[in-house]
Formats: sequence, C-alpha cells, structure tokens
Amino acid sequence: MTDIQFDICPTPSITVPVTHEIGGKMKKVVDAGSSGEFGWHAAETALRCARLFSYKFRCKDDKACVVPTPSAPPPLAGASSFNVTLPRGDADNTRAPLARGSLVHAGLANHYRILQLIQQGHDPDSVREEWASPTEAVSICADTNGWGAHREEAIRIVNAYMANWMREELEVLHVEEVFAAEIEGRRYTQRLDLVVRDRDRKVYVFDHKVVGRISPQTVDRYTLSGQFIGMRCLVEMAYGDQFGGVKLNLIESGDKGFKFFRDVVAPAPSAVRTFPLTVLHARKIVDMCADLPPEEWPQALSEQTCYTPYGRCDYFDRCRWGSN
Ligand code: SF4
Repeated sequence: MTDIQFDICPTPSITVPVTHEIGGKMKKVVDAGSSGEFGWHAAETALRCARLFSYKFRCKDDKACVVPTPSAPPPLAGASSFNVTLPRGDADNTRAPLARGSLVHAGLANHYRILQLIQQGHDPDSVREEWASPTEAVSICADTNGWGAHREEAIRIVNAYMANWMREELEVLHVEEVFAAEIEGRRYTQRLDLVVRDRDRKVYVFDHKVVGRISPQTVDRYTLSGQFIGMRCLVEMAYGDQFGGVKLNLIESGDKGFKFFRDVVAPAPSAVRTFPLTVLHARKIVDMCADLPPEEWPQALSEQTCYTPYGRCDYFDRCRWGSN
C-alpha cells in the first residue's frame, strides 16, 4: 500500500474581496471563484479526459481553444445532426444548474462572510455598509457572468435559505478560503464553501448544493466524490481531532418550493488514504503531455464522458471535426 501523503499541513488563506459599485458606493464581494489548475476539478478533468484538460486549462489565451461549442441537448429524434440549430447562452437550459448554483454560492458567501465579521466583534452596521448584501452579491454575479435570466430565482433561494437557517448557531471559521497543500513538491489547492464550528464543537466543512429534488441518492453519490474526499483530507490535516466531517448543505428548489437539509457525507477511508496518490497521478498525466499541442493530448472518446448529464462536452464539435 502506498504511503504517498500531502507534504505540508494545509494553510487556509483569505482571498482579497472584489469591489463593485452599488448605488454609488463601493462594496465588497467574496471571491468565490475556482481553485484553478491546482485544484481537484483540474485533477479530475485530467483523469477524465486529458484533451479536455488541455482545452480548459492550457489554452486560455489561445483564441482557437477559448471559444467552445456550447453544451446542447441532443438533436430531436429523426433530425439530421447536420442541420439542427443548437441553443446558446442564456437560452441554453443545460447551463441553468451551473448558473443557478453559482449565483446562490455568491449570495451565501457574502451572507456567511458578513456573519463571520459580526461574530468576530466588528460593528454590524459598518460591516453591512462595507459589504454587498447577499442579494446584491447574487445580482453582481448575474451581471458579471450574463446570468440575468436566473437572478430572480437565485435571490428567492438565498432569501428562503437565510429565513430557514436564521437561528443556526454556527461559528463561522472560513468562507470561500483556499486550502493549500503540497504533494511531492506539487501544489494542491481547494476553495471551500464554508468551514464552521457546529454546536457539538466539532469543525465541519459545508458544501452548498442546489438541487431539483433531494433523495437518498443525493447524499450517497458524494461519498466517492474527489471534491469531498479532498475537503476531508485538507481540513482533517488542518484541524486534527476537532474535525467532524464534511456536510452537504442541500437546498431543494423545485415545483413544490424550497427544502433545506444537511447531512454528513459517509466516510470513505480507503479513498482518503490513496487520495494524494490519485492527485499525483493526475498531475503526472499533465506533465507527460505538457509539451504536446492541444490536438495531440489523448482523448477520452467515451459516450459517458463526451456526453454528460448536462449535454455535450463543450468541445464536442472541436473533437469531432478538428480545429479548422
Ligand atoms: S469531447 Fe470527449 S474527447 Fe473531446 S474534450 Fe470532451 S470529453 Fe474529451
């Protein structure tokens, strides 16, 4: 059995908030962006499809790579695949879960950052003056990303969430902070939605998920998610015996209104033990292909990977027809 481990204890770091003008005043918004090329999403992408990794993470400044074909639902039965017009942008419903989830994250990030500052003894009025309200944060995120069509729903979700959890007694420890570690000299980072000390005095990571319907499978499916295994590794290393687990902070937004539910994701000790090795393998795949042009990185070419629950991979047509 491997003994590959993270080399250093993860250190969380607060990212500099972004400022936006709201009603003539500059207000702060938590940066809830991605963990970049050194996070689990990148590692998981490399393991899923090396070509996809190269398009997403290595071609940012290459115009030929930067404009992907939008994900789209399959052509209607009987329609020729050569003459179907694929929907784009906000009209593309396959993007709705991503947009809605990201907007809700933006709102909850400012909600918990404001709460944290007040818990730390800062004057509540000054904090609220300085920071965008949760709904303002949603709006800014919608404007920045062109997700205006999802703004009102996201604001309703955030308001319902805050009303539901109004009396929660959590000590907020970290909001959207990046936890960084190293493995054989390679940096590994994860941005965590929220880390709290709960009423049992244990430290929990909360991961917010907005879903159409909460079912028993909703929690179970994250047992072997690298995102959750990584959170467990990093925060357990940082907090030791105080660590309580990773909780799914579920928000159901469907036809029957809203439901809120939190549950600890089941442990996966074997996957936790080998997680550093898994990350290392992903990084080695990237290193091995680093000098190749994008079109020579290996492709997954799998109907499970090139076609996701949200539709075609962004680069479906590029892989199909080539870059010209
Ligand atoms: S379409 Fe398939 S092979 Fe091409 S980048 Fe996407 S997942 Fe990889």
